Amino acid sequence: MDVIRTKRDGGELTDAEIDWVIDGYTRGVVADEQMSALAMAVLLRGMTGPEIARWTAAMINSGERLDLSGIGRPLVDKHSTGGVGDKITLPLAPLAAACGLGVPQLSGRGLGHSGGTLDKLEAIPGLRTGLSSDEFLTQLREVGAVVCAASESLAPADRKLYALRDVTGTVESIPLIASSIMSKKIAEGTPALLLDVKVGTGAFMKHLDAARELARTMVELGAAHRVRTTALLTDMNTPLGRAVGNALEVAESVEVLAGGGPSDVVELTVRLAREMLTLAGLDAPDPVEALRDGRAMDVWRRMVRAQGGDPDAPLPVAAETELVRAGRDGVVTRLDAYPVGVAAWRLGAGRARKEDPVSASAGVLVLRGEGEPVRAGDPVLELRTDDPATIPSALRALDGAVEIGDAAPDPRPLVIDSVSFVDG
Ligand code: URA
Repeated sequence: MDVIRTKRDGGELTDAEIDWVIDGYTRGVVADEQMSALAMAVLLRGMTGPEIARWTAAMINSGERLDLSGIGRPLVDKHSTGGVGDKITLPLAPLAAACGLGVPQLSGRGLGHSGGTLDKLEAIPGLRTGLSSDEFLTQLREVGAVVCAASESLAPADRKLYALRDVTGTVESIPLIASSIMSKKIAEGTPALLLDVKVGTGAFMKHLDAARELARTMVELGAAHRVRTTALLTDMNTPLGRAVGNALEVAESVEVLAGGGPSDVVELTVRLAREMLTLAGLDAPDPVEALRDGRAMDVWRRMVRAQGGDPDAPLPVAAETELVRAGRDGVVTRLDAYPVGVAAWRLGAGRARKEDPVSASAGVLVLRGEGEPVRAGDPVLELRTDDPATIPSALRALDGAVEIGDAAPDPRPLVIDSVSFVDG
């Protein structure tokens, strides 16, 4: 209770208090209700730099640390803070591996309106995301890219705390988000990390200032643990690409790997691959070449097969579709990411609780995106689901999501800024 009161009253926690509370919570000595009170105090009062550093170190020390030395490739991981239609890991991991990197991706599942990489990959028939440590290391060495679930023993304090924050309104705290993400990435053993910090309506961070502070905090935590870290701030006001939903996003990723796909997904994938090569200090040819000549696709197919999936199997297709149509002639001036994410979630693509199943086939296809002309009655969005009962609530979520005006909006840059330690 003293620790809770100190933070509640705006004080600074000592190293010993932080170590004690994280260890006690992991072992079940500190109760959920006490930890939720402390998390709320942190959300309202914030944490100093030294507090965040110690909190992160305590969460790393709550579990095992992987040793990724001896893989034989320069390793760089990438993490996104999550958005709508953010499937970039799927084409990026094989692309970076095709350029000579090793990509050890321990990913998460979707929660709320933003999707999770594991749910997307599991839309591929047969694909397993629960790999043993041996399978993980062998695939990293032999294929170069592996995207799977983190083991239970990696930062267990974060696993427990994140589930608690999710149901106590304490997710949106910069110290708690930064320590949560970085404890897992540091424990994973990657020597270099690229962070894609999403900013906008479809992201945790709605405003640029907060996103910049989150990026800076994570980059500093990386530097303190000798993980070379760069963060890009990228736009998440409108969905990335045209597909939102698990199998739909896999199909779009395969299009990108085949040399096509929506220009924003290609642009961000290539930009992130270049940043990963820079972080590794690898002087490789431009990643665009590996997309064009099929090398990235070859790695994708090997990665999918190595995880038990069939890259040639047809993806699940939803039984029901529903169209959202333009109400007038004009240009789409705004397509808001957040309601599209909520609609995809309600159609079955996401889960409300961690243990819920997700539908592989549900989601939303963007038929006309921002800046594209429409005629009254043209379909703008296509909703897909296996459960027609979900359609009315998905349509309610989309009320006001599409704005049509007379003139195309000014294009927004996809990559807004970057933060690395030297800039920091
Ligand atoms: N992702 C995480 O892993 N942790 C957070 O706190 C938020 C997003």
